Amino acid sequence: MSFSFRGNNPVREAIHAVFLFHAIEAGLDMGIVNAGALVVYDQVEPELRTRIEDVVLNRRPDAAERLLEIAEEYNRTGEAEEAAAEEWRSLPVGERITHALVKGIDGHVQDDTEELRAQIAERGGRPIEVIEGPLMDGMNVVGDLFGAGKMFLPQVVKSARVMKKAVAYLIPFIEQEKLDNPEYATAKETNGTIVMATVKGDVHDIGKNIVGVVLQCNNYEVVDLGVMVPAQKILDTAVEIGADAVGLSGLITPSLDEMVNVASEMQRRGFEVPLMIGGATTSRAHTAVKVDGKYDGPVVWVKDASRSVPTLAALLSDAQRPKLLADVKADYDSLRERHATKHDRPMVTLEQARANRTPVDWDGYVPPAPKQPGIHVLDDYDIAELRAYIDWQPFFNAWEMKGKFPDILNNPTTGETARGLYDDAQAMLDRIVEEKWLTAKGVYGFFPAAAVGDDIEVYTDESRSEVLTTLCNLRQQGDHREGVPNRSLGDFVAPRGTGLPDHVGAFAVTAGLGAQDRILAFKEDADDYSAIMLEALADRLAEAFAERLHQRVRTEFWGHEPDEQLENEDLIAEKYHGIRPAPGYPACPEHTEKRTLWELLDVQANTGIELTESMAMWPGAAVSGWYFSHPQSQYFVVGRLGRDQVADYAERKGWTLAEAERWLSPNLGYDPED
Ligand code: SAH
Repeated sequence: MSFSFRGNNPVREAIHAVFLFHAIEAGLDMGIVNAGALVVYDQVEPELRTRIEDVVLNRRPDAAERLLEIAEEYNRTGEAEEAAAEEWRSLPVGERITHALVKGIDGHVQDDTEELRAQIAERGGRPIEVIEGPLMDGMNVVGDLFGAGKMFLPQVVKSARVMKKAVAYLIPFIEQEKLDNPEYATAKETNGTIVMATVKGDVHDIGKNIVGVVLQCNNYEVVDLGVMVPAQKILDTAVEIGADAVGLSGLITPSLDEMVNVASEMQRRGFEVPLMIGGATTSRAHTAVKVDGKYDGPVVWVKDASRSVPTLAALLSDAQRPKLLADVKADYDSLRERHATKHDRPMVTLEQARANRTPVDWDGYVPPAPKQPGIHVLDDYDIAELRAYIDWQPFFNAWEMKGKFPDILNNPTTGETARGLYDDAQAMLDRIVEEKWLTAKGVYGFFPAAAVGDDIEVYTDESRSEVLTTLCNLRQQGDHREGVPNRSLGDFVAPRGTGLPDHVGAFAVTAGLGAQDRILAFKEDADDYSAIMLEALADRLAEAFAERLHQRVRTEFWGHEPDEQLENEDLIAEKYHGIRPAPGYPACPEHTEKRTLWELLDVQANTGIELTESMAMWPGAAVSGWYFSHPQSQYFVVGRLGRDQVADYAERKGWTLAEAERWLSPNLGYDPED
C-alpha cells in the first residue's frame, strides 16, 4: 500500500508513530527507541489511531480503505493549515518582516528586506529605516515576550537569526550610502558595547554564545573574542573599542582563578567599567569571595542568559545602577560572612579519614580480568549508533528550557518551543550522520593496578613488578556520622597487600572533530541558532559516546557485567555496576590527573583531543575518565580538604604546597593566607 502526502503531513507522522509504538510493544528490536515517537503516539487522535492500528495490526479486511478515507480528510485540513500558515505572506512588506522576526522564520527575509529597502529608496529614504522600523518593532516584541516569560531562548535565538540576516543584507547598502554621503558616516546608536570571552585555558562557550545573541537582540554591540582568550587580549580589546562592560565565561574550575586574574588586571590597568561573570563553574559565592575584592569597579555574577539583559541594562543606566550595586553589595557581604564561617565546619584529620575508608571485603573477591587488556583505538565510531544513547535533559538545560525530558515536549507552556527545538535537533542529527559533519574518535585501555594508600599504582604488565604510573586520589575529610565512610577512589581497587590481580581502566572520547569549521561557517552566515545547535549536539554525542563505550566496556571489553541489559534511561540513571569518574568532577576534582590519563592512553596521538594549560579538553565536545569495575564503586564528592591532606598530596605529586593549593583551590577547607 502506498500513500502520497504533501509537505509535513500529520497522517504520515501518525502512521510512523503508531507503527513504532507497536513495533516496540511487540518486542521488535528497533535498536533505537525514540522517546519523541512515543510521545507522538499519545498525541495521535483516537479515531486516526484506531484506523492506523487496524492496518498495522491487520485487524480488519477493509482497514486500508478506511485509513485512506480518513487520510483524505486530514490532507484537506493539512492544506487549510498550510494556507493559514502562508497567509501572512499577503501582509504589507513591513508587517511581513516584523512577523517573520517574531516567529523566527528566516525563509523569506532577504527578499522581504530587499522589497522594503527598494520601496524606501524610491521615496528617497535610507536603508537604515528598514532596521529602525519593522526590524526593531519585531525585536521589541521579542524582548517583551522573553522578559515576560512568554517566549523562550530557542525562539529568541531564531528571531535573532532573522534580524542578523536582514542586517547582513542591508550592510552593503549602508556602506555605499556612507561613501555617497559622508555626513551619514556617524557611529551607530546602541545601548552599549561589551567585550565577551571565555577565559584562557577554557574552551566552552555555548552559554556565552547564547548571552551574546540575547544582548545583540537588545541592541548591545557585542564583541565576542571566542574561547581561550588571555586577559591581556580581552582588556586591550576593551580599551581599543571603548567597551562599556567586560563579560567573562568559564566552564571548568581552573577558570575561576583566571577570572580573578582578569579582575586584578582590570584594577592594575585602571579600568572602571563593570565586569560580568558567568558560566557553569562560576557562582555568586565565588564572585563575591574571590573576584569582587580584586577590582574596585562593579563586579556582578550573571546567572543565565535571561538575566544578562536586565543586569547589563541596569549597570549602564545612571538611574538604575546605584540600586543594583547596593543590592549586589549587600548580597555579596552576606555571602562573604557566610564563607568566613564555612571553614568552621568540622573536619577530620587525614589520618582519621584514612582509618574510615570504604569498607570493602577483599577476602574471596575475584577481580574480573579484562577481556581486551591493553590500549584500543576507536577510529571513526558510528555516530548513528551513538545517537540512541543521547541524554536529552542537558540539551534542554543548555537552551535554558526548564522541565523534565520527555514531559517538557508536552508541557502546555513550553511544549511548542521544546518540540520545535527537538525536531530541529533531530533534523540536524540526520544531516550530521548522512553528511558526516562530525567524526567520533576514542581510546580506551585496561591496566594491571593495585591501591597503595589512597593512590592507585598502574603496572607495566601482569607481573606487576614495575610501576608505569600512579593515579593520585583525594579523600573526603568531612566529619561524617557513624557508619558513613570517608571515601576515596583508591578504595575501589584491591590494595597491593591483598595480592589480588585487579585492574583499572581509562578512556577519552570525542564527537567534536570537524565541528569547529562548520560552527564558524554558521556564524559567518549569521546563523547562530544552527551554530549553537551543532555545538550542543556535538556535546551530547560525546556524552553519548562515553555512555555507549562504558556499556561495551562492562559487557564486552572488560566484561565484568556480561549479562547486563539496560534501556537508555537506566543507563542515564546509572543502574549498573561500575563507574567512570572524570578528572575535574567531584570524586576526583584535581584536573591535572588528566595529564596522567593522556600519557597512559597517548590520547592526543590516538584521538586528536588536546589538553589546554587549564586542563580543558579541545575539542570541547570530549569526555574522559577512569573505569572502576568493583560493584561497590560509586560516585561521591570529595569536598573540602585539610591542610594535612593538601601537603600530603603535594608531596605525592611532586609539587610545592603553593602549586597544590592552586590546583586544589576550589576544595581548600582553609585559607592558605591564614
Ligand atoms: N548523561 C549525562 C552524564 C553526564 S554526568 C550527560 O549526558 O550529560 C555523568 C558523568 O560525569 C559520569 O559518567 C562521570 O564521568 C562524571 N561524574 C559524575 N559525577 C561524578 C563524580 N562525583 N565524580 C567524578 N565523576 C563524576
